[in-house]
Amino acid sequence: MEICLIAAESARYSGSDASRVNPLFPPLGLMTVAALTPGEHNVTIIDESVEAADLEIEPDLIGLTAMTAAAPRAYELADAYRARGVPVVMGGMHASALPDEALQHVDAVIVGEAEGQWQGLLDDFSAGHLGRVYRNSEFPPASLIPAARRDLIDTSPYPMKHVMQATRGCPFACSFCTVSTFFGRTLRTRPIEDVLAEAREIEGEPITLVDDNIMGCPQYAREFFSAWADTGKTFWSQASTTMLEIPELIVQAAEAGCKALFVGFESISQTQLEKVGKRFNPIAKYEELVQRLHDVGIAVIGSFMFGLDGDDEDVFERTADFAERVEMDIGQFSILTPLPGTRLYRDLESAKRIVVRDWSRYNGSHVTFEPVGMSPEALENGFQWVYERFYSWRSILRRVGKRITPLVWAANVAYSQRVSRWLAGVREQPAG
Ligand code: SF4
Repeated sequence: MEICLIAAESARYSGSDASRVNPLFPPLGLMTVAALTPGEHNVTIIDESVEAADLEIEPDLIGLTAMTAAAPRAYELADAYRARGVPVVMGGMHASALPDEALQHVDAVIVGEAEGQWQGLLDDFSAGHLGRVYRNSEFPPASLIPAARRDLIDTSPYPMKHVMQATRGCPFACSFCTVSTFFGRTLRTRPIEDVLAEAREIEGEPITLVDDNIMGCPQYAREFFSAWADTGKTFWSQASTTMLEIPELIVQAAEAGCKALFVGFESISQTQLEKVGKRFNPIAKYEELVQRLHDVGIAVIGSFMFGLDGDDEDVFERTADFAERVEMDIGQFSILTPLPGTRLYRDLESAKRIVVRDWSRYNGSHVTFEPVGMSPEALENGFQWVYERFYSWRSILRRVGKRITPLVWAANVAYSQRVSRWLAGVREQPAG
């Protein structure tokens, strides 16, 4: 059977190319689904952030995935393929959150992770009795995660070429985050020997470990870092601010080859953090955390959100000042977005504060709900202002000038270019 797996990309929606930016790393989810596919089938992967899907192809089966912002594009693709008689199935975050909506466009949906369901779906499809919804009754063990099919992807368009995963899930449940809904609150860990075997197969570094919280289980993290050091490969990953409670783990991560960590700071107001279920973030210790990471040579990719209840128009300047003062290496800023499946979505929906239903605008750069404390226009403008300031040359030199490394410098230059192109695209888009 010929199977084509497609990661839909929102900016391709209705032919729009306005806000498209170059992708950061290859589509690990589809590379994993490809690896779960029995060998008698022939699989291809299209990542629409690199190339648009060809509507003329006629494989035996199309497998789609999409984050919420890309759902309209995924539906557009599904409708087009099915009109030509090609069956389409869909998985991923959005279809898992709203399977009934997805089923208006596709033949079947996998709710949750593909492990334990994809093979059964293929068997049913081959036997001519495809079901409508496939869902695991519990989270599948991480030992089922196979080594991704890297042979199916040309990594040349991606700045971060090597991507893999050691754990799934996060012990926390921040109201805006899909991770604990989709992957659960118990951190599931792959056998360390599986992770190391996959890492050793990868030619090159750094490896991006897309784990949502690589230190979410300190005991596993200890064993993992100690074993990973033997690979001799550098890596980037994500961790929560709670790593500060176990500072020796930060040292161990650095010794294992960690060069950067994505950290969800989200806000510099404790009250706002409490409102989104992230009271465990210790604002008073943010600076100490950044310093400790810098001391061991780990760059900090800080994530911040705007539009939380309580944020006013001062929040942008205060956040940018903070990020520059602590010499944040890289910053990722977004507008709070009520993604389907999250507690935030349910809360705002029941308060009748969701005002935009066009999923393509649920990408963190548009206001989709009624904010308090400022107008939607002020929120979007302030968010764009922060990005422009943070990736101005003046700010880059101020933040990383003293500790410059080729990796961090390259990341800032790349981000600076991405931001210019992306903001130009965002401003071209009509108001939603
Ligand atoms: S700590 Fe991070 S990954 Fe975990 S629930 Fe909160 S935002 Fe999501």
